[in-house]
Amino acid sequence: MTGIVYKSTGSWYTVKTDDGQWYECRIKGKFRIKGIKSTNPVAVGDVVDFDLDTKSDVATGVITHIQERENYIIRKSVNLSKQTHIIASNIDQVFLLVTLNNPPTFTAFIDRFLITAEAYGIHAILLFNKIDTYTEDELLEIKFLAAMYREIGYECMGISALKETNIDAVKKQMEGKVNMFTGHSGVGKSTLVNAIEPDLNLKTKAISEQHMQGQHTTTFAEMYDLNFDAKIIDTPGIKGFGIVDMEREEIGNYFPEFFALKSECKFNNCLHLEEPKCAIKDALDNDELHWSRYKSYVQIMEGDEEQYRKDQYAS
Ligand code: GDP
Ligand code: ZN
Repeated sequence: MTGIVYKSTGSWYTVKTDDGQWYECRIKGKFRIKGIKSTNPVAVGDVVDFDLDTKSDVATGVITHIQERENYIIRKSVNLSKQTHIIASNIDQVFLLVTLNNPPTFTAFIDRFLITAEAYGIHAILLFNKIDTYTEDELLEIKFLAAMYREIGYECMGISALKETNIDAVKKQMEGKVNMFTGHSGVGKSTLVNAIEPDLNLKTKAISEQHMQGQHTTTFAEMYDLNFDAKIIDTPGIKGFGIVDMEREEIGNYFPEFFALKSECKFNNCLHLEEPKCAIKDALDNDELHWSRYKSYVQIMEGDEEQYRKDQYAS
């Protein structure tokens, strides 16, 4: 049998088959995924093959195989084992909720999110939330930001989760896909999920009571079917969007508008910093690229974590 993992407790995996049947599955023996040293062999979103456990009178199974992942997001383990925890896999798209204030979302944060999505190979969309609260000037700023990111190739939408403005457009975008929402605390993620499907919380509870009785709630990710053709992966208690290790040389590749010009730099290993005849710096001087993006790039290249944090928490 084949199904998708909706929930994991570390020892049991809740799997749903194509025909809508639920099974509680275990894994047998040691599972090793090539190239990944992870604490969890199976992640939410994995497509797995499993054998029915005939000795049990409830619907349980044993996972025998994990089908190749299209992508996955990770969290680094805090201990010294340098192991990673795979939070979720096979994610079609991730929406970053952005607010100008309450809380402020800085372009440095947006750009870090976008390069992370690029590195993971996940389609990213920007949702400018709380448009009901902005002044004319702030709306202009949103327009400017949206135009900038659209130009680079990212879809942008202005929404109000609270007033339910443009929610249908968001739902349309989610259709047929596995979706994630992320963004700073307070940007409106819960409000948006509530606008999309008001009874999702109830459903969540029903699923967990039905399948996970006695299991304490953890920070594991969980996938939900929405009441239209879409799935959502919830990552409670997991900050941000995971971390990817990037080599300095590859960071520029995750800025699509820089990557497009890279071949015109004089040196083919140009890092677009101090090198002469750099196509990216020329384009910046000619106002063909945005300085805020370059600023983010330099900050990431310099690994200036302290400045980044200051920017995040300045108000
Ligand atoms: P989360 O931490 O990202 O889940 O954010 P919440 O959904 O809890 O929202 C934080 C606060 O912002 C709550 O008081 C919401 O009512 C408010 N909020 C969320 N979306 C909007 C919006 O579109 N407009 C306004 N005016 N307030 C919003
Ligand atoms: Zn260059």
